[in-house]
Amino acid sequence: MSELTEYQGKATMEKITSLAKRRGFVFQSSEIYGGQNGAWDYGPLGIELKNRIAGAWWKEMTRLHYNIAGLDAAILMHPKVWEASGHVENFTDPLVDCKKCKSRFRADMIPEENLASKKCPDCGGELTDTRKFNLMFKSNIGPAEDTASIIYLRPETAQGIYVNYKNIIQSNRMKIPFGIAQIGKAFRNEIVTKNFIFRTCEFEQMEMQYFVKPGTDVEWFNEWRKQRWAYYEKLGVKMDHLRWHQHGADELAHYAKDAYDIQYLFPMGWRELEGVHNRTDYDLGRHSEFSGKDMQYIDQDDNNARYIPYIIETSAGLTRNVLMILCDAYDEEQVAEKGNDDDWRTVLRFHPNLAPVTAAVLPLMKKDGLAEMAQDIRRELQDDYAVDYDQSGAIGRRYRRQDEAGTPFCVTVDYQSKDDKTVTLRFRDSMEQVRVPIAELTARLRQEIKTYKRIK
Ligand code: ATP
Repeated sequence: MSELTEYQGKATMEKITSLAKRRGFVFQSSEIYGGQNGAWDYGPLGIELKNRIAGAWWKEMTRLHYNIAGLDAAILMHPKVWEASGHVENFTDPLVDCKKCKSRFRADMIPEENLASKKCPDCGGELTDTRKFNLMFKSNIGPAEDTASIIYLRPETAQGIYVNYKNIIQSNRMKIPFGIAQIGKAFRNEIVTKNFIFRTCEFEQMEMQYFVKPGTDVEWFNEWRKQRWAYYEKLGVKMDHLRWHQHGADELAHYAKDAYDIQYLFPMGWRELEGVHNRTDYDLGRHSEFSGKDMQYIDQDDNNARYIPYIIETSAGLTRNVLMILCDAYDEEQVAEKGNDDDWRTVLRFHPNLAPVTAAVLPLMKKDGLAEMAQDIRRELQDDYAVDYDQSGAIGRRYRRQDEAGTPFCVTVDYQSKDDKTVTLRFRDSMEQVRVPIAELTARLRQEIKTYKRIK
């Protein structure tokens, strides 16, 4: 497959941001006060979508792998953790400020000629020298504000896994190779937050750390690259919008032996979605050193050999995955040629497993008992599916609202339903409609979800 050079879809960041707000996926944090940079609130549809994406990842990583255990570690950790991990010393971005317009830039993200001439890319004013800026949010815990009370908001979820590795071996009798999976919030004082929820100061990560015997790390690194690629295929993502990017010597973290990013072709170009890293024995070695605790694994399958395991990390952004899925699903389609505004529809072609609402139940009319019948159907379906109910407005307009929310199925109750106990099942992608007996609806939806193939 030749690589795409330009974004092929209909989404733009403006359209996605505006749809997200209009339909209650994502709102700006503290909007009534002018908004808080780098923070976003997930509305009714957004939290459902985020939960589904997290659920798909969790299922893939834990339920489908007998040797991967779950964890939910605290956000606040002992400050020594961040010394051992290298974050206190090294988790920095190069920063420059414009003395004139006060804009702040990441030095590695502005054109080199601006950096060389110390000229602001926005206003032409003079730039300061580059300085290191630590991305960790720092606060104080307890009543005293002194160096002994310093506490950090975790900048990644991985360290919570490393410090619990022995607990999990002991409590779950894990044997190498094994993994620990975690989904949770992380915080980074990003110098530049832009592109909606792509890069934020508060975000969520989905990380799985796989502990392996030294010498088998390259094999497991390749295996996890394969599995993570296959995962996105399973999610129904446009595979020509994904590619691998291997870290060059200049990008490779000091502890990493090899690292690849899975990049997605967003409307603003190819950007990192997830990283697969061979972190070697660096992390556990450092925690051994800083905590004084022995982090060696005793390999009963290899004459009680003792070693510090190597770690293969798969680290994906959950909130970044939400943006990817929104961009991937976004489509605009001409559905009529009447010269009206509603000749076009906006549709989110979510996989039914990810769609915030699986089915919407719509009575054609409120009167004549159709609404009551539709409410009965909603109650019947709600145990198995996320169901919406909407009885107001023209039916065509209600379909469009559901298309825009990415609801894959609409169930319409009409006068015929009263006579023969059937309903119309409308498919979001093809807009086709079929008649289905109410008694078969739950099973039919299950079948449709299982066999779903994206057609456009
Ligand atoms: P970048 O170089 O873009 O700052 P990174 O390489 O430091 O990111 P990692 O530390 O490897 O990113 O984090 C793993 C994943 O967490 C990333 O692939 C991304 O999906 C997500 N992520 C990292 N930083 C942010 C952020 N500020 N906002 C949203 N998601 C993020």
